[in-house]
Amino acid sequence: MTSYADYATGEPVVDAKAPDGPVEERWDKRRFEAKLVNPANRRKHTVIVVGTGLAGGSAGATLAEQGYHVVQFCYQDSPRRAHSIAAQGGINAAKNYRNDGDSIHRLFYDTVKGGDFRARESNVHRLAQISVEIIDQCVAQGVPFAREYGGLLDTRSFGGVQVSRTFYARGQTGQQLLLGAYQALSRQIAAGNIEMHPRTEMLDLIVVDGKARGIVARDLVTGRIDTYFADAVVLASGGYGNVFYLSTNAMNSNATAIWRGAHFANPCFTQIHPTCVPRTGEHQSKLTLMSESLRNDGRIWVPKAKGDDRPASRIPEDERDYYLERVYPSFGNLVPRDIASRAAKNVCDEGRGVGPGGQGVYLDFADAIERMGRGAVEAKYGNLFDMYQRITDEDPYEVPMRIYPAVHYTMGGLWVDYDLQTTIPGLFAIGEANFSDHGANRLGASALMQGLADGYFVLPATINDYLARNPHHQTVTAEHPVVQEVLAETEDRLHLLLAVDGDRTPDSFHRELGELMWELCGMARTDSGLRKALERIPQIRDEFWRRIKVPGVGEEFNQSLEKANRVVDYLELAELMCLDALHRAESCGGHFREESQTPDGEAARRDDEFGYAAAWEFTGTGEAPVLHKEDLVFEYVHPTQRSYA
Ligand SMILES: Cc1cc2nc3c(=O)[nH]c(=O)nc-3n(C[C@H](O)[C@H](O)[C@H](O)COP(=O)(O)OP(=O)(O)OC[C@H]3O[C@@H](n4cnc5c(N)ncnc54)[C@H](O)[C@@H]3O)c2cc1C
Repeated sequence: MTSYADYATGEPVVDAKAPDGPVEERWDKRRFEAKLVNPANRRKHTVIVVGTGLAGGSAGATLAEQGYHVVQFCYQDSPRRAHSIAAQGGINAAKNYRNDGDSIHRLFYDTVKGGDFRARESNVHRLAQISVEIIDQCVAQGVPFAREYGGLLDTRSFGGVQVSRTFYARGQTGQQLLLGAYQALSRQIAAGNIEMHPRTEMLDLIVVDGKARGIVARDLVTGRIDTYFADAVVLASGGYGNVFYLSTNAMNSNATAIWRGAHFANPCFTQIHPTCVPRTGEHQSKLTLMSESLRNDGRIWVPKAKGDDRPASRIPEDERDYYLERVYPSFGNLVPRDIASRAAKNVCDEGRGVGPGGQGVYLDFADAIERMGRGAVEAKYGNLFDMYQRITDEDPYEVPMRIYPAVHYTMGGLWVDYDLQTTIPGLFAIGEANFSDHGANRLGASALMQGLADGYFVLPATINDYLARNPHHQTVTAEHPVVQEVLAETEDRLHLLLAVDGDRTPDSFHRELGELMWELCGMARTDSGLRKALERIPQIRDEFWRRIKVPGVGEEFNQSLEKANRVVDYLELAELMCLDALHRAESCGGHFREESQTPDGEAARRDDEFGYAAAWEFTGTGEAPVLHKEDLVFEYVHPTQRSYA
């Protein structure tokens, strides 16, 4: 075995599908050059879609609407329970309804800058172009976006921008958008064009002759393991933030589908969201987000004096530090998430944090209530306030909310080309599962935009090209030796997990790994800390395989087995995340290396050395992976030190 830190560097990875020419014409050009599949031939093609969140739901519905035969999977009991349902605050689109200076170019610019110059210009521009179509599509489906008094769709602002371009449905935008995608999906299920497999988990990928041709999946109710075949496989399985154990993600969000052999890009780019309900103790298995939209009207502050433990109401105005407004007067409380999170950590590290353990800052609505009236605040944020009150038993209309940063989103993911195809031909990745559009930091309200852009618009256009060029005249069957091999490997892994019969639960290992990741690969990272993590993770993995206890058998409903199998993947992915963070000896966006900061404590990029996306090739458990670099070129938004002051 080679030490992880001794990784090798391989050939650069090239996005062969990326068109050239003026950035605003590239998407049209690619769509025109891509081959089409004749409508009558589409029904002869089967596409597997793993996931039914906003990305997978919209992709499955659209592909079936186009005439393809779709076989779709999710582990929930219904597609409409995918994690996307949790999204609260809104979805961006460059509609410029407010006439406040917005445009496709500005959304493009904000996103490239917000991602700290680690995203591809071509992809981001396409995203900005498609954003306007998404809103039309969803309105046509009946998604009940908030409207203003004149009847036009209402918008609000999110971090890192100075225009109001976020469309929303109260604090339940994800739910309403998902209902739109789900009804489109249901229509196709009823029409027989989609074969839906809920409560079924993809465990492995079937690659025949170098092309993705199917998956191995387990029925979570009966435990039965089956194989499914297709002409192409689309992974829309969401993000991997649960590596950290505590995060705002749904409990079962995991990395299993994306951890199956394709190159993995920028795994260390994790988003820590500044406004989450602070953790209260060891007992917690999940954290709760308070939407960024609250920063439109809530003001963030801490006491000026260290250790000031008076209740908020007793701290006079001149003894409060509205630190974001003070340090970043142009953007104030709406600076991007990475900046707001680090600022919160800094004031807490200084001893000025509030609440138990000093791990919190105030998000205060007193001014907003005085200015707008309680009714208006309730109309905008009511469900979020109710949620906060139910969790903390404090009334945010009376006392300020307490918030603290928490893991929320993963910008890294499977490396994909402009067509959203991974390094395995025929394997596509969309939504949070890929790495494509957000660089080193995602701006608020842009995950929903990307998921729906990928699912409704990009993938349905680009997958045609692959299917037209790869007609797959040979069908793959369960008897194929490769299929038998993958199936046997999957079954062996589960049997091994059941056979250890140790004395520790999957959860105890997951928690231990998560705490290590939060401490050493979380909000601030150092060379020595990351090396320590790289030493420790293989030890935890070793212990896992000696001491894991999974009761029951495989041929039944067995949540312990599900969990243990996911932890196996987390233990491998976590190691890669730490290596990626170690090798990237610069700070950018959400990746903050303490050794690389400006005199003001902001992230200092090193463009000459690290102006690339890092695509990692897995070479086996515990073996050093291979790094393939994709150079990033900026022709339109020139890299500068980000400034939100
Ligand atoms: C609390 C919260 C609030 C948010 N608010 C916003 C917001 O306001 N605006 C915004 O833009 N973004 C927001 N986000 C981010 C956004 O919600 C997500 O990035 C986005 O919904 C991800 O969508 P997705 O379709 O890629 O994946 P998901 O919605 O996570 O769906 C994943 C799907 O894959 C399936 N799946 C996964 N693994 C397997 C497997 N192995 N086998 C079978 N099926 C599998 C699941 O069953 C599920 O159907 C928020 C996130 C959180 C946590």
